[in-house]
Amino acid sequence: MGAANGGVRHDGDEGVLLFAFTCGYITLPMGFFLEGEPGKVKVPACSYLIDHPKGLALFDTGFSPRFTDMADGLGKIVDMPKGESIADRLTELNVDPARIDWIINSHLHLDHAGGNALIPNATVIVQSGEWDFGLGGEDGAYHAVDFDTGQPVKQVSGEHDLFGDGSVVLFPTPGHTPGHQSVRVQTGGGEAILCGDCCNMRQSLDEMHLPDHAWSLDACRNSLELLSKLRDKGARIFYGHDPEFWSGVPQSEALQL
Ligand SMILES: [Zn+2]
Repeated sequence: MGAANGGVRHDGDEGVLLFAFTCGYITLPMGFFLEGEPGKVKVPACSYLIDHPKGLALFDTGFSPRFTDMADGLGKIVDMPKGESIADRLTELNVDPARIDWIINSHLHLDHAGGNALIPNATVIVQSGEWDFGLGGEDGAYHAVDFDTGQPVKQVSGEHDLFGDGSVVLFPTPGHTPGHQSVRVQTGGGEAILCGDCCNMRQSLDEMHLPDHAWSLDACRNSLELLSKLRDKGARIFYGHDPEFWSGVPQSEALQL
């Protein structure tokens, strides 16, 4: 195959390769992630590159570089270091952002879709309902400037097998937002579950500890229970905003699950 096939694939690589990145940080009350917990916490916003022999997909895109050097408003809680946008992360891996085919957005909040504008030739895949809810104005964490950036949008309902071989399967995990989705990625070394804001922290799953607010806390609980079953079967969960977990995730090499 070689690099000409796209991305970071080397001769001898088989199947799906998975890479993980942090793309900015936000400081929020701990209760936002784990109901009743005191204090504040600085958490990473995360993005993943899924390198499949048939194409390149991102799962989420982190924060927009518009927050770099922003001192007012959201700039007080968002830290977007220069050089850490998803476009910068891809370029470090010698992946041209223009070669990404798909952006799978777990949902369209500003810390998950903020880099969409940097990926010009991708088709955005969201669960049906997420797009309209994002534009509806009920939830202040949606900023159309971040997610309504002109690429084609494919809305899916329920499970969606992206490459038709079962290796990258999107599935609904509603609760945090109505159209939240996660993805199962089957790599040579095992299965990863990229779960966005369905499961913020390892503690969320270990203790079935819900956040202090959500679009539907009942749906959150059901989605966490689904993730728990997948974890029991051996899947590796990538906790969406867990700073301790992310401090141990390598960011410049294919993940070994
Ligand atoms: Zn969110």
